Amino acid sequence: MTDLLVRGGTVVTAAGSSRADVAVDGGTISAVEPDLGGLTATAREVVDATGLLVLPGAIDVHTHTRVASDAEPDRFFQDSVAAAFGGTTTFLSFNNPGTGASAAGRSLLGGMREWRAATASDSAVDVALSLVITSAQDDPIGEVPDAILSGVPTFKAFMVYDFGVDDATLSRALEVAGRHRGMLEVHCEDRSALEERTARHLAAGETAPRFHASSRPPFVEADATARAIGLARAARAPLYVVHLSCAEALAHVRAARAEGLPVHAETCPHYLTLTDERYDLAPEDAARYVISPPLRGPGQPEALWDGLAAGDLALVATDHVPDRVAVEKRSWRESFDRISNGGPGIETLLGLVYSEGVSRGRIGLERMVELVATTPARLFGLGSKGAIERGRDADLVLFDPAARRTLRAVDLHHTSDYTPYEGRVVEGAVRSTIVRGAFVVRDGAFVGRRGHGRFIERSLDAAG
Ligand code: MN
Ligand code: MN
Repeated sequence: MTDLLVRGGTVVTAAGSSRADVAVDGGTISAVEPDLGGLTATAREVVDATGLLVLPGAIDVHTHTRVASDAEPDRFFQDSVAAAFGGTTTFLSFNNPGTGASAAGRSLLGGMREWRAATASDSAVDVALSLVITSAQDDPIGEVPDAILSGVPTFKAFMVYDFGVDDATLSRALEVAGRHRGMLEVHCEDRSALEERTARHLAAGETAPRFHASSRPPFVEADATARAIGLARAARAPLYVVHLSCAEALAHVRAARAEGLPVHAETCPHYLTLTDERYDLAPEDAARYVISPPLRGPGQPEALWDGLAAGDLALVATDHVPDRVAVEKRSWRESFDRISNGGPGIETLLGLVYSEGVSRGRIGLERMVELVATTPARLFGLGSKGAIERGRDADLVLFDPAARRTLRAVDLHHTSDYTPYEGRVVEGAVRSTIVRGAFVVRDGAFVGRRGHGRFIERSLDAAG
């Protein structure tokens, strides 16, 4: 029995694009053929996708969605709705062990269980987790093998922040994760250079948000990236570099990959589409762009697009942080180093990569699918996702390439009160989003259900 038949669209995979029909049975793709018209009479539902692209749902491997709280019971669900509107059918989040006394002695597996309990039955799309290894936990690296066996094979460590780890810990985390078929994601910035530059700004009374950027220029990221690569090389372990923002860091990744090292790097839509002139805005507006690494100078976005086109950069993910100008960002009045780092992006991944990448001729459609779906699925062990082919989950996006719209915070669904892309005109629009055969967004309206999303246990062994 065919539950759903998507007819007449252009099906795009990493390997090519063609007019094809897609049949779905029990949440799984059961056939992809040029003409499945024979199923029309018996299919439970037939959808006409004429003029639309049929894409595998985007997979956002880097988000900081926040779990529900008594004060904000909908915030996780609402960001999952935002993901669906943007064509993201699976997102990965991080547990947040926090810092300070409350975080001391917390266990890695305990954090995993807490996160799963706090988000169970809460998401409209599928979710998965990466676990953050911090300096505050008891013996996080000792728990890495069990976490991998529990379906969480990716971990994250920071070279900066008070919960960051030293090089010895980083080195051990790389080694243990790699040995057990896991992968460590690393936030690469050099702590001592950053602290020294920050202190100098503050001593000079330079506290405005724009000094965030000059406190962490490209070399701060590039030097740390080189060091992380060196540690991964010595540990004979894979390394995943998060949010790479500049040509200087990209050069190190390119060299490592030319050596044949399993070094993978992501970049984010904001580094591809925005530059540091945003820090010249009035302080309250500049604070919206306080993210780490910061936005870079002119010319940097083009270097990153080149890196994506050439294969030096593996994928695009959002680093979504659902901060609000009125809440988390309000500390801009104090000083730049007090401002919560991050900005929203969970809803705008596919739209921006299509508009700025495909529409402008920087990458092809197939490369786009690779960057936002197929490679994230492969690298992060989501073996049932990331492609439109028989046997995979029916996570599909019906995308109208002829549409044009203006991004505005009031039209988006995320829990932030702003978008970094306010007023930007983008080509293309997500019309419908399907997660395991069920419409979550249909013709621009939410028709999904809280709890439809499942927690996906992953294994890097199963990755295609
Ligand atoms: Mn980070
Ligand atoms: Mn992040």
